[in-house]
Amino acid sequence: MERDCLIAHGASMVIKDRLLDESDGWEMLVCSNKGCGHAAYYDFNRKSMCCPVCGDRADIHPIQTSYAFKLLLDEMKSLGVAMRIELEDRR
Ligand SMILES: [Zn+2]
Repeated sequence: MERDCLIAHGASMVIKDRLLDESDGWEMLVCSNKGCGHAAYYDFNRKSMCCPVCGDRADIHPIQTSYAFKLLLDEMKSLGVAMRIELEDRR
């Protein structure tokens, strides 16, 4: 309800601050290759970012999201559902 009130007033920066920056903000790596969109990871042995699907051809970008969303992706993955994240340029 608090979130809905803030949205109604057009306070997008307040929402971002309250629900992401001051809450459970999380930087997540995502592969932006066409048709991929899987969560990527940093390989400490190779000292590089890797996509489990694309391998070395990956085009990986960091995104800001909430840790709750990352948990949702992990739980869906454990059920055998691969959710994909489509990235687009900011305007
Ligand atoms: Zn990929």
